[in-house]
Amino acid sequence: MTEKIKVIFLGTSDSIPSANRNHTSIWLNYKDENILVDCGEGTQRQIRKAKLNPGKITKILITHWHGDHILGIPGLLQTLALGKHNKPLSIYGPIGTKKFMKSLFNTFVFVKKFPINVIEIKKEGKFFETPNFYLESKKVFHGPPCNSYVFVEKGRIRIDKKKLKKTKLPSEKLLQKLKQGKDIVFNKKKYLAKNLTFRDKDRKVSFVLDTSFNKKIIPLVKNSNLLICEANYASDLTSLAKEYKHMTSVQAAEIAKKSNSKKLVLTHISQRYRKDLKKFLSEAKKVFKNSSLVSDLDIVEV
Ligand SMILES: [Zn+2]
Ligand SMILES: [Zn+2]
Repeated sequence: MTEKIKVIFLGTSDSIPSANRNHTSIWLNYKDENILVDCGEGTQRQIRKAKLNPGKITKILITHWHGDHILGIPGLLQTLALGKHNKPLSIYGPIGTKKFMKSLFNTFVFVKKFPINVIEIKKEGKFFETPNFYLESKKVFHGPPCNSYVFVEKGRIRIDKKKLKKTKLPSEKLLQKLKQGKDIVFNKKKYLAKNLTFRDKDRKVSFVLDTSFNKKIIPLVKNSNLLICEANYASDLTSLAKEYKHMTSVQAAEIAKKSNSKKLVLTHISQRYRKDLKKFLSEAKKVFKNSSLVSDLDIVEV
C-alpha cells in the first residue's frame, strides 16, 4: 500500500494576514514524519484548528527570515516546552539561521526542555535522507538568503513476480534482501536484484515560497507531483512582483508547466485579491491547467 503524503496549509496569506488568511506555514505528514515549512505568527493556533498535535513536529524548515515566515516560532517552542515535550526538534534554514535563532531565544524567558538542533544549510542539494525519503534545498531569489525545499519519497523497490517465478527462489528472507536492492546467492547461483525487481516512481512535493520569477527554479522542482508556489500577485502587478521579488500566479504557472509538474497549488496570496480571486486563478489556469488556490486549513494529498 502506498503511504499518503498529506499537506495541510496552515497559513496562506502574504506578509499581512487577513481575517481569513494566516501567515505562511505548511505541514507535511508522511508516516511518522511531520515537517513544518515556515512558521508565521499565529501558526500554533492554526495547528490547533487543524486538529494537529504540535508535539509531533519532527522538523521545521525555514525558507527565510522575513517576519511573516518565522514569527510563530517562539510561541510554538514555548508551547512545546510547557507541554513537557521531550523529543528532539531540528530546525533547518538558510545561512544566518543560527544567529537569528539565538536572538529569538534572547527575546523572552525560555527554558529549553528538549533538544533543539539548529542547522544552517550551506550547500544546495540533499540535506537529509532516510531509506524512505530525502529533503533537498536550493537557493531562490528574494533578497535575504532564501531556500526552496523539496520532499522526495523514494520509489519503493518491488519484486517482479513473473521473473521471480522462473527462478524458484524460496525463502522470504532472500526476497527481503532483493527488496532492499541487494543481490543474493541461492544454490550457489547469484541473482542480481536489478534483474528481479523494479522501482516505483518517486513522489515529490516542492515548496517554492518567497522568490522572484527565475528559470533556475525549474530544475529543482522538475516532475513534482505537487508544486506549492508563492503567487503574491496577479499579472496586472507583474512589475510590482519584480520590484518586491515575488511572483504572479501566471509566473508560478509557467514554472509548473516548464518543470513538468502534475499539480500546482498557489499560496502566499496578497489580501488585495480578496474579492477577485477568480481572475487570479483563471490567469494561472490558462498557462497550467491543473492549478488551484488554497485557503487556510485546506488539505492536499499526494
Ligand atoms: Zn512572505
Ligand atoms: Zn519574504
